[in-house]
Amino acid sequence: MVHIKKGELTQEEKDLLEVIGKGTVQEAGTLLASKNVHVNCLDENGMTPLMHAAYKGKLDMCKLLLRHGADVNCHQHEHGYTALMFAALSGNKDITWVMLEAGAETDVVNSVGRTAAQMAAFVGQHDCVTIINNFFPREKLDYYTKPQGLDKEPRLPPKLASPLHKIITTTNLHPVKIVMLINENPLLAEEAALNKCYKVMDLICEKCMKQRDMNEVLAMKMHYISCIFQKCINFLKDGENKLDTLIKSLLKGRPSDGFPIYQEKIIRESIRKFPYCEATLLQQLVRSIAPVEIGSDPTAFSVLTQAITGQVGFVDVEFCTTCGEKGASKRCSVCKMVIYCDQTCQKTHWFAHKKICKNLKDIYEKQQLEAAKEKSEEENNSKLDVNSNCVNEEQPEAETGISQEDCNPKDSVEGERESLQSDAGLECLQDAPVGPQLSEE
Ligand SMILES: [Zn+2]
Ligand SMILES: [Zn+2]
Repeated sequence: MVHIKKGELTQEEKDLLEVIGKGTVQEAGTLLASKNVHVNCLDENGMTPLMHAAYKGKLDMCKLLLRHGADVNCHQHEHGYTALMFAALSGNKDITWVMLEAGAETDVVNSVGRTAAQMAAFVGQHDCVTIINNFFPREKLDYYTKPQGLDKEPRLPPKLASPLHKIITTTNLHPVKIVMLINENPLLAEEAALNKCYKVMDLICEKCMKQRDMNEVLAMKMHYISCIFQKCINFLKDGENKLDTLIKSLLKGRPSDGFPIYQEKIIRESIRKFPYCEATLLQQLVRSIAPVEIGSDPTAFSVLTQAITGQVGFVDVEFCTTCGEKGASKRCSVCKMVIYCDQTCQKTHWFAHKKICKNLKDIYEKQQLEAAKEKSEEENNSKLDVNSNCVNEEQPEAETGISQEDCNPKDSVEGERESLQSDAGLECLQDAPVGPQLSEE
């Protein structure tokens, strides 16, 4: 092992740091081949070439340096920063991911006691926080696919490792999404498989809590997903297609406003059942949720999501009403108040949504009218001095945002089908030209 001292760089090493900032990967590769370059050399602040590349957001340079044996967990920086911290601070999601894949420790702290995720949250790089908090390397799961100790069989059949890994690394914790992911995989969607999976997640949860550097976030996530798996098992016991029944139960809204009571209760219950009552995260969650009456904000789902993924109220992103997926863009063409990923999600939700769609439409129209009124009043006020006759002429035009069909509410399902289709040309349904196929009742 070469002894590396801070700030004692060879000329080639200085060149390498230059090239990382401004040069090409080829140039860096040539320098790295030189015997005068140590890949983990330290500049006067204790920064390695990898830290420089991460901080400057150079993905290819990071990959090159890692291939050349760069130490992803080097901790010689004067303020205790690691390459992962620099990646997270730079807000580069790919580099953050590459560092994690390369084995970056997530619980190392800098000189003021902050982890990479905490530093990223502090500077508003929430995507990186999400990536770090939800990282779970595949090898850690593969451990359970081999018999351990006196076990004759592995705790997790190897064929289940991939589908399970996909679920435990998801950043969308919506219970409907988790059940959908299970439902779409025939390997997972059976009692015996789910039984094995939830027990493995419980073991991971226990490990997270008992290891030296406790990871409460990951422990809570594992426990929560394990609870959803157990719910699936209960529903599967009742017969065929029972996961669809579970999805419906999760989406069913109360008559007054469509709020999904069962979903809220399931999430609250699983948080409450977290087996380590001394955990700070659990206490935080309970404090945020307990005073909230069921049906009011914040929902247990939003509190849990925020605690686990670090996501806080995105202003510019919309979430699917059915499955909670980020970036949904298809609006119900009747009420325009709910939004979905696609027609599948819209169809899944329709049995519940159709009961309140009309009410939501009235609310939407009222809002539009008020907005239009306000706008025309504003315009009128500005024109008032010039010509006071304009006031009444402009009002009818302000309402043109609402189409004629919309003003003609129909009550039967058939009527709803028609009105859904009659609006199909509206911008938000461009990719889904036909309204939901109302196959049920
Ligand atoms: Zn969706
Ligand atoms: Zn609607």
